[in-house]
Amino acid sequence: MKQSIDIIDTGYFFADGGAMFGAVPKTSWSRRYPSDGKNGCVLAMRSLLITTDDGRIILTDTGAGSKHLQQLKYYRFFDLKDLNEELGKRGIRAGDVTDVILTHLHFDHCGYVTQRKENSERYTVSFPNARHWVGRSQWENFLRPNALEKDSYFPENMAAAEEAGLLHLIKEETELCPDVSLRLYDGHTVGQIVPYIRMPERTFVFAGDVIPLAASLSPAWISAYDTHPVTSYSEKIRLLEEAVRENQAVIYCHDAYTRCTTVKGRQGIFKATDIINVSST
Ligand SMILES: [Zn+2]
Repeated sequence: MKQSIDIIDTGYFFADGGAMFGAVPKTSWSRRYPSDGKNGCVLAMRSLLITTDDGRIILTDTGAGSKHLQQLKYYRFFDLKDLNEELGKRGIRAGDVTDVILTHLHFDHCGYVTQRKENSERYTVSFPNARHWVGRSQWENFLRPNALEKDSYFPENMAAAEEAGLLHLIKEETELCPDVSLRLYDGHTVGQIVPYIRMPERTFVFAGDVIPLAASLSPAWISAYDTHPVTSYSEKIRLLEEAVRENQAVIYCHDAYTRCTTVKGRQGIFKATDIINVSST
């Protein structure tokens, strides 16, 4: 199998623009990200599919799934896709997936890890043969959430994966395979995994909610959802200085308009440069 990467858009939702850009005034952020009459910004939920030379099939993030749409209807989800159907279009069955990387465990990233059995209170894992990679401190935070994050965590999104012995926790940088390494970042929440995928022409960085939108490239443009904003600021600079130096491509998991770009800048000022077409890589 030839190494390849592909983005799967699993659906969209609306997030409040004020919440997405924190202390940044609307007069500034509205020039860089559209919103509707209710101040709602359309956000994508992206999953990254990686196939490797040695036969691994790796997913990063899974979108929100469908279990909690009623409880979360404030977010006005739309165009939701079933991730397994999307994989099927690419000739991949659920049982073929060898690894699921979860950047973190907020509902919009791990909702499809489990599915509710029809006419039952029970949940089953969507990818029964996959190792599920989670940051150890993120897992501990998920089990004992702080007051601000607990509404973003649903125990039933992960319990069946843990019970099946599929959970793999990392507490430091880990090589998943020769061309995929998992790094850890704090800020938005603790112990976020950011996968680095080394392709022949460049390295791709799935930035998760460390840098969710191209407009979030400015280090001080930090979401009000971030639990440790001062840490977010320095973590973004850490990620972006390397991205500039190494000419890496940054994938924005929530940007409905810009999927992936290279980055330029220095001394804390960063801008998206070339649009990179991920799927044709
Ligand atoms: Zn998110």
